[in-house]
Amino acid sequence: YDLRNEDLKDLRELGQGNGGSVKKVEHTPTGTIMAKKIVLIDAKPAVRKQILRELHIMHDCHSPYIISFYGAFLSDPNICICMELMDKGSLDGIYKKIGPIDVEVVAKVALAVLEGLTYLYDVHRIIHRDIKPSNILFNSEGQIKICDFGVSGELINSIADTFVGTSTYMSPERIQGAQYTVKSDVWSLGISLIELALGRFPFSDSVSDDSDLSDLEGTLSPARPGSISLQTGKSRDSAHAEQQKQKDKRNKRKSKGVSLQGGGMTMSILELLQHIVNEPAPKLTPEGRFPPMAEDFIDGCLLKDPDARQTPKQLLTHPFVDHARTSDFNLVEWASTF
Ligand code: ATP
Ligand code: MG
Repeated sequence: YDLRNEDLKDLRELGQGNGGSVKKVEHTPTGTIMAKKIVLIDAKPAVRKQILRELHIMHDCHSPYIISFYGAFLSDPNICICMELMDKGSLDGIYKKIGPIDVEVVAKVALAVLEGLTYLYDVHRIIHRDIKPSNILFNSEGQIKICDFGVSGELINSIADTFVGTSTYMSPERIQGAQYTVKSDVWSLGISLIELALGRFPFSDSVSDDSDLSDLEGTLSPARPGSISLQTGKSRDSAHAEQQKQKDKRNKRKSKGVSLQGGGMTMSILELLQHIVNEPAPKLTPEGRFPPMAEDFIDGCLLKDPDARQTPKQLLTHPFVDHARTSDFNLVEWASTF
């Protein structure tokens, strides 16, 4: 496809992310239906061209577990990325619509994501870097595929500053400034799978009360490519201001004697990051509700020490994943229920 914006007819909006929006479009010369992601990028023309060159690698990514790529082009001030449309959308949308996802499906998701990650790394030496339910897509043929992987270093640099973290799937070692490895993706997968199985983000109920945010300060590096930024376009200084605000809020709550525990309290992003680093990893709860092999698989994904955590390829031999491979659970039928 030689894609031009004039040839793409908007059909409907599929979703909004922090970096831009995704639309269902028709490529009118061929009648092909696609998903067009529009990413607003604050970068010089040379950098934008570099991003386009880097995105080209996606033309060579061929796997049943990876979204197919039709092409990308510049459309000032945006970059448009055209990809395969997945008609059932992302898994976050699905669980928000139908509630907690059946563990049989969760197992199939684990299998698909691990296969996708293994393909990306073994064949292209690509680390995904952004595994989360909104980047795992599903279609009515029962296929599960991953999208939005980190092919373009320049793209990662250009959008890092506009990332808004409301929930984070980032591993403890990444929060502490270590390099990305395939094992960081495994942590993110573990968090994502708990979220699907429980129907909620696993950290959202637990609040650490007396956390002193200054502990964390030295480990945050918002300016680092591909690492965390706290709020849209905010600098380190305003991150400071944010910390102070959170502290003030907490003190206020304390002085009012309001309990921080329970009641669906949400942690501030800094509390969350500190929680991930300092507290035991989340688990599939309550104990005994899920099959032991599911619990064991999640525990393995969420080992806090990256040296102890397995790679995607190693985890492909876990009994939970083996089960998913041989299970006759019908995803096409499941897809037809919503
Ligand atoms: P973030 O910006 O934090 O990464 P996000 O992944 O939700 O969040 P986008 O990648 O911009 O943001 O995607 C927005 C939404 O569009 C997704 O949540 C998903 O539901 C939908 N979407 C993205 N790609 C496709 C696709 N190929 N087919 C169908 N729906 C898609
Ligand atoms: Mg996405």
